[in-house]
Amino acid sequence: MLLVAGSYLEPIRVGDTVRYPNTGETPVVTAIHERSDGTALADLLFARGSTGCGYRLTDLEHMSRPAVEPAVQPCRRRHDPARACAPCAEATDPVTTGCAAVLCSKPATNLVVWSLPSSGQQAKALCAADTERHLALLRDIRARVIALADGTHSLLADGSGTQVATCRHCGHRIYLYPALLGGREPWRDGAFDETGRCQLAEDRHAIRIVHEPAVTLAVLDYARAAATCGTTFDGHNLANCPARRP
Ligand SMILES: [Zn+2]
Ligand SMILES: [Zn+2]
Ligand SMILES: [Zn+2]
Ligand SMILES: [Zn+2]
Repeated sequence: MLLVAGSYLEPIRVGDTVRYPNTGETPVVTAIHERSDGTALADLLFARGSTGCGYRLTDLEHMSRPAVEPAVQPCRRRHDPARACAPCAEATDPVTTGCAAVLCSKPATNLVVWSLPSSGQQAKALCAADTERHLALLRDIRARVIALADGTHSLLADGSGTQVATCRHCGHRIYLYPALLGGREPWRDGAFDETGRCQLAEDRHAIRIVHEPAVTLAVLDYARAAATCGTTFDGHNLANCPARRP
């Protein structure tokens, strides 16, 4: 029987300290996600609390294993609670979108939608003070002011006032269309999605689950890292998912 070199390697598990040969760093593995094509990807916690995700397990060298698997931390990964971890430090910070007013660095709280005969409908996310200023500027032009939904991190650029978030279950972009405001289970993965059901999460858990926004930075970060299509940063929706095209 012929054994290849890889068969002697210790399989890497959550909690293990590994060596990342590209940089010589020795981070710990805090989560392992399996893509739909079978590739296993690790989330890593480096020295001084920086983190990364999407590292192929096959690119890491096993070094050591703790006596017990560490417990889940606020960043939703497993690691020694005594270790510095940047996502843990921001775990309860809400997901927000910045106020669109020039020179304002506050988070937006309102969605203001108005239309002008010359330029059609427009929408802006604004903080409370800039909402007042903007309404004053619009004077007698009718505007609709809507409280931004928890988890909204951007608006569609088409002036429709559609809010964009990331699903905490599947890690894909989801949309709150103005027509669905105030309804139950209003988030959709695209204009043709009539139910808002989160197929990827339903496949995994075998119960009915709808798309719901990640409302804290830690949950957002974890949802993106755990997206099973593995294309975590371009923020595509399920309808455009390269892993789900027939
Ligand atoms: Zn952490
Ligand atoms: Zn502002
Ligand atoms: Zn989803
Ligand atoms: Zn996808």
